[in-house]
Amino acid sequence: MRILDEAKARSGREKSELLSFINGVYRDGTNHGELGEALQYLHDNSTETFYKNIFLNRLEYLSGKTLLVSKPQHLLASLSDKCNLNCAMCYEKTGSVIPEAALDEFTALFPYARRVEWIGGEVLLLENFERLFDAAAKYPHISQIITTNGTLVDEKWANKFIANSVEVRFSIDGVTKGTYERIRRGASFEGLLANLELIKRLRLGRPRLSRPLICMSFIVMRSNYREIPEVIGFAKAHGIEHVNFLRLLDFNRESYVRENIDSDPRVEEYLSKAFGRVEELSGKLGVSYIIHFALGGRKRGSFNEALNGEKSRPCRVPWEKIEICGDHRVRPYCHCDFVGSVAKNSLGEIWNGEEMRNYRERLVRLGQENSCGSECLERTFCDATLFD
Ligand code: SF4
Ligand code: SF4
Repeated sequence: MRILDEAKARSGREKSELLSFINGVYRDGTNHGELGEALQYLHDNSTETFYKNIFLNRLEYLSGKTLLVSKPQHLLASLSDKCNLNCAMCYEKTGSVIPEAALDEFTALFPYARRVEWIGGEVLLLENFERLFDAAAKYPHISQIITTNGTLVDEKWANKFIANSVEVRFSIDGVTKGTYERIRRGASFEGLLANLELIKRLRLGRPRLSRPLICMSFIVMRSNYREIPEVIGFAKAHGIEHVNFLRLLDFNRESYVRENIDSDPRVEEYLSKAFGRVEELSGKLGVSYIIHFALGGRKRGSFNEALNGEKSRPCRVPWEKIEICGDHRVRPYCHCDFVGSVAKNSLGEIWNGEEMRNYRERLVRLGQENSCGSECLERTFCDATLFD
């Protein structure tokens, strides 16, 4: 059956099923021309703003448009660098917050968004965060993701997370009191465990979701790498379903020099064994994990390999995502070029501004291989290929 006919036949069914079909055809990569026809049909015949935008967004991407009528599907805001902790590896805080006018524009995009991600500083510390969270929670099609140090999670927030199936990423870089409190300066290990326990208790009896609700981010450093074999057991015991192992970024020079594990063969050797244990326990205990960096010189598989059928196409990120950083600059995603600042322009102006259009145009013309950095192409930190 032709893709258009199949899309027509499916158009009366659950829209999420239709989206899976579209994504399947897209990933296969052999029928992008016919897919464009189907997307046009689906867009013209949809009445719901959210789905209409998704169909149009993918169509504009497939057509190589750089000036978009569609809105971003994925939104990320680093709301502020204000925090109640003073972690060893953190950057210097300036107290900067995203201007309210930019946040109003951000929330105006919620009717179109599939995914909204909130980062701080510490988001639960911010007075305006509950309003923003509740505004996104009104849209059932939005998956919210929150990164938090977990120290301020109380009953109110735990209930909100559960009621709205929010993916909560706890930053926990130690599974013993000594290591955790040495790194996460100002936090109490007992307090963290009590907050995890609270969520675990409130979730009891609820069905498990298809994606994790509670995640843990563990930044691998010189002062904590020996705890890696214990991480999966810790996660299981405290209701954490997924662990992201991250490498340290150079936000704080002094701590980076002291804590960075790159290019130390003894650490590499230890990590190979430690992650063997992680793999074993992950299967046994049902806690998933991703190592977001190359281990022992082994590459994780390039960006293009991970995309399989999509490999002949440019990275979709600048068509689908937008991130406002704490310093007000805007980019599509974490390793992309900056394309503006909400201190100077509105988000709408930036989304279709000259810099963003040039960025898209460059990707269409040269592909990511010739436009983007190795951290993204080798998936050594953020992994843009993990989005559907
Ligand atoms: S919790 Fe995050 S933002 Fe706060 S001090 Fe620690 S690393 Fe920095
Ligand atoms: S490959 Fe990475 S840096 Fe390049 S556009 Fe995609 S997300 Fe941005």
